[in-house]
Amino acid sequence: MVKEYDAIIIGSGPAGMFTALELAKSKPELKTLVLERGPVRPPLKPEDRRVLTSGWGGAGTFSDGKLSLTYKVGGQLQDFIGESRFKELMKYVDSLYMNFGASNSSLFDPTASRHQGFIKELKRRAERVNLEIVEYPVRHLGTENVYLVAENIRNHLQSKGVEILVNTAVKKINPLGNHLFLVEAQSINSEEGHQFITKNAVVAPGRAGMEEWFMQEIKRLNIPFKIGGVDIGVRVETEAKVLKEITDIFHDFKFYYHSPKYKNRVRTFCVCPYGFVVMEEHYGLTLVNGHSYGGRRSLRKNRSKNTNFAILITEYFTQPFNDPIAYGRSIAHQANQLAGGKVLVQKLGDIWWGHRSDLDDVPNWKVKPTLKEAVPGDLARVIPHRYLELIKEKLQAMDEIAPGINSAHTILYFPEFKFYSVQVIADPEKGFETEISGLRVIGDGGGRTRGLVQSSMEGIIAARAILKDLEA
Ligand SMILES: Cc1cc2nc3c(=O)[nH]c(=O)nc-3n(C[C@H](O)[C@H](O)[C@H](O)COP(=O)(O)OP(=O)(O)OC[C@H]3O[C@@H](n4cnc5c(N)ncnc54)[C@H](O)[C@@H]3O)c2cc1C
Repeated sequence: MVKEYDAIIIGSGPAGMFTALELAKSKPELKTLVLERGPVRPPLKPEDRRVLTSGWGGAGTFSDGKLSLTYKVGGQLQDFIGESRFKELMKYVDSLYMNFGASNSSLFDPTASRHQGFIKELKRRAERVNLEIVEYPVRHLGTENVYLVAENIRNHLQSKGVEILVNTAVKKINPLGNHLFLVEAQSINSEEGHQFITKNAVVAPGRAGMEEWFMQEIKRLNIPFKIGGVDIGVRVETEAKVLKEITDIFHDFKFYYHSPKYKNRVRTFCVCPYGFVVMEEHYGLTLVNGHSYGGRRSLRKNRSKNTNFAILITEYFTQPFNDPIAYGRSIAHQANQLAGGKVLVQKLGDIWWGHRSDLDDVPNWKVKPTLKEAVPGDLARVIPHRYLELIKEKLQAMDEIAPGINSAHTILYFPEFKFYSVQVIADPEKGFETEISGLRVIGDGGGRTRGLVQSSMEGIIAARAILKDLEA
C-alpha cells in the first residue's frame, strides 16, 4: 500500500528536525513523515572516540553543540534571505534549542562591552602578523545537551503525531506530475521496500547524504547546481591553559590568517576547549573532528586537559578540474592508508625537524593526545607542501596572541576535511524550492549552510513555505 503524506522530510538532522517542528507547531493536523537512514543512537560516552554522523538528529547529535549566533560563520544564508529576516530566524531557532533542553548551555560573547579592552589589544597584536579576528556570540550546548535536544525533539514530534521511520534510506524521488512525488525507500535492516506519496518533499541529507546519495538524484532529475570547494587541514591539540585566556572569552575563536607568501586565507574552525578529538566516518574515509562537553556539572567531570581546533585552507578549482571532493578524498585516502584505516598524528616539533613521530615516544609527549587511536606518523608524506607550510605559518602567527601554541609539543592530527556540498539552485522566497515545484533541498546538503543554527533556520524557512503553499 502506498501511503500519502502532506509532507515528507528526508533526513533528521537539524534541517529536517526543524522543518518537522515548525509544521507540527503551525498545523498539527498535517500528516508529516520523517525518513532517516540511520538509527536512534545511544548517548555518546566520554570514552567513545568514533562518532556516527548518520541517525536521529544527524551529524548534529554528536556535534559540539556550538550555536554560532551570527551570519559570519556557519553558512551564507544571510546572502539569500537578507539581514532582518536572518536575525529574526536566528533568534527563533536559538529559543527553540533552549526550549528543547539546551538550558545548561553557556553563552560566550566577545562582543560584550566588558571584553572590549582585551579584544582591542588582541587585535593590535594580531594585525602585526596578518591575523584577522572575527567576534560573534556562541552558545555552547556541549555534546551531552545537543543529544538531549535531539531526543526531546523526537519525543515531541511523535507526541504531535509526526511519523518517524529510522533505519530507512530513501533511494529515489520520482516526480509523478501534478505536483506529486513518489518517494521510494528501503529498510536498512531488512531490505524491505517502501513507497510514499506527497506533494511536498523536503530533502535534508547533510553533506554526506548529498555526496553519497542525493547527488545522483540531482543529476537524474536535472536539478541545476554549482560546484563547491573543499577545506583541507589539520586538527590541532594543545594544553587547554595555552588558549585559556582566549577561549574563556570567545569559546570558538575565529582567526583568519592571510598568508603574504601564498596569498591563501587560512582559518581556525570548531574550537573545543577542554574537549576531545574524535574520528568520524564519511565517504568511506576516516576523518578527524572535535567535540566537548558543556553544562556546569558535567563540564567538570567530562572535560579533558586539552583544547583542540581545526586549521583549514579552502580550495576551489577552476577548469578543467571541477571535482574538489575527489581531490580531497585522494589525499585523505592516502593518510588513512598510512594509518591503517585510522588518522595520523604528529608532534609539531617532529614536523619542524623532518622526522616522523614514533609510537614509543608518545608516552613522553607533554600534550597527551585525547584521540588515543590516532597513529603517530609523518604528515609531510601526505599533506601537500603548500598546505603544510600554510599551517606552520598560521601557528607561528597565532603564537603572537596565544604564546605557546607554536610549540614543539603541540600535536596535529590529519586528515580534517570539510567538503562543501554542491550548491543546489533553489528559490529562497519559496523555502528553497528547486526548479521542480514541491521539491525543496535544505541544510548542509543544499550547500548554503555549514552549521547547526543556519541548517535549522533553513528547516523553518522550508516549513513556512510549505504552510503558505497549503493555504493557497
Ligand atoms: C563531530 C562534529 C562536531 C560538530 N560541531 C558543530 C558545532 O559545534 N556547531 C555547529 O554549528 N556545527 C557543528 N557540526 C556541524 C553540524 O553538525 C552540521 O552542520 C549540521 O548537523 C547539518 O545539519 P543537516 O540537517 O543539514 O545535516 P545532518 O546533520 O548531516 O543530517 C542529515 C541526515 O540525513 C540523513 N540522510 C542522508 N541521506 C539519507 C537518505 N537517503 N535517506 C534518509 N536519510 C538520509 C543522514 O543519515 C543524517 O542523519 C559538527 C559536526 C560534527 C560531525
